[in-house]
Amino acid sequence: MSTLISSRRHFLLSSAGLTCLADVNQAFAAPVKQTKEAPEGAASGVALAPPQKQPEKLKIPVKATKQLGWAIVGLGELALNEVLPAFAGCELSKPVALVSGHPDKARKVAEYYDIEQDAIYNYDNYDKLAEDKRVDIIYIILPNSMHAEYTIRGLKAGKHVLCEKPMSVSVEEAEKMVAAAKEADKKLMVAYRLHYEPFNLRAMEICRSGQLGKIRTFASTNGQNVQAPNIRLSAKLGGGPLGDVGVYSINAARYTIGEEPVEVFATAQQPKDDPRFREVPESVAFTMRYPSGVLAHCDCAFGMAESRFYEVNGTKGSLRMQPAFSYRGLRLHLREGDPKSNTAEDQELLLQAKNHFTEEMDHFSRVVLNDESCRTPGEMGLADMRIVKALERSIETGLPVKLEA
Ligand code: NAD
Repeated sequence: MSTLISSRRHFLLSSAGLTCLADVNQAFAAPVKQTKEAPEGAASGVALAPPQKQPEKLKIPVKATKQLGWAIVGLGELALNEVLPAFAGCELSKPVALVSGHPDKARKVAEYYDIEQDAIYNYDNYDKLAEDKRVDIIYIILPNSMHAEYTIRGLKAGKHVLCEKPMSVSVEEAEKMVAAAKEADKKLMVAYRLHYEPFNLRAMEICRSGQLGKIRTFASTNGQNVQAPNIRLSAKLGGGPLGDVGVYSINAARYTIGEEPVEVFATAQQPKDDPRFREVPESVAFTMRYPSGVLAHCDCAFGMAESRFYEVNGTKGSLRMQPAFSYRGLRLHLREGDPKSNTAEDQELLLQAKNHFTEEMDHFSRVVLNDESCRTPGEMGLADMRIVKALERSIETGLPVKLEA
């Protein structure tokens, strides 16, 4: 079934799949069979209100037989503003422990989320999580420079680990994290939340289906204004725009183009007159070349008004996601053309949004419960780190850097 949205034909994504509103409208227009429960006043034979009985298709929530317990490590902005509130929508995941260097804050957060006070840990007694039977999964939401250490210690404690992006600050660290998961026989997932929400999933599907023809170019910007103090402005903590926001474009290029780059080039701007950028670049522009000949051109920045988009251009059409990487409000446009006449029609796909973090956390709980493979494993984070580091080498040398195909 086509999934295009036009002014006349509207499609929605529902849990049951894609529903065509045009068909729904037709169904409403069709004569409704009169039932005994028809409301009073339905003299014309058309029921104007639903009967007072349980609709057959109404989904009644059923409590999962088992929920996995999550320990949240680092109670900063992402943890407090997005991750912890997102548990409310989870079926399979619940927060049961906190790890923080600020006991007062942790106590208040624990009270709010009904987490037992004896499940509050700090960075010194973190390894004691090994003995805590309530905890199945550890979610690392620390500065980037701390991801590798706390992931590896978490895996050694016998827990599965979800680690925030970027996975690490070096390729060597990422390799050690992947090896530690194998050694511990535990799962390691990188928190690439866009693999779990409907808009980016739809974009991946369109690109893979061949609907755009052969993909020729990919373009993306991911930038924002970062004010000091912020972990993103510290070199020691693994800050900088490439790992923090550029990695979204690198990852989106992979999930739309479906290939790994073989050559990359980058250039950076680090203004001397802005104290925010003493340690990290303000902006980075980069290109990536893929084996099939696709070219990607991207930029990322910490000193610009928020802009987050990507565009995939193929021989038969293109798609544009803008915003593409935000937590909410994503918009997906498809432009399909007639290559001969060079005309194209622009359409917006209306999909039902979902909370990225809720979907991501329940995916990981499901993967652990059923011993399945996760969609964004440590190996994907490692592949992205190889690209980030090659881009950094290119900035240093001023030369393109080749990557193994
Ligand atoms: P933040 O600065 O708000 O939080 C960092 C937390 O780490 C704080 O609670 C801080 O107290 C703690 N911390 C422990 N040791 C520290 C130290 N030595 N120095 C500084 N802080 C220390 O940052 P954030 O925005 O919550 O980002 C945390 C992680 O989440 C980063 O890796 C970031 O890339 C990632 N992130 C991901 C998304 C996403 O959409 N997936 C969004 C935002 C941030």
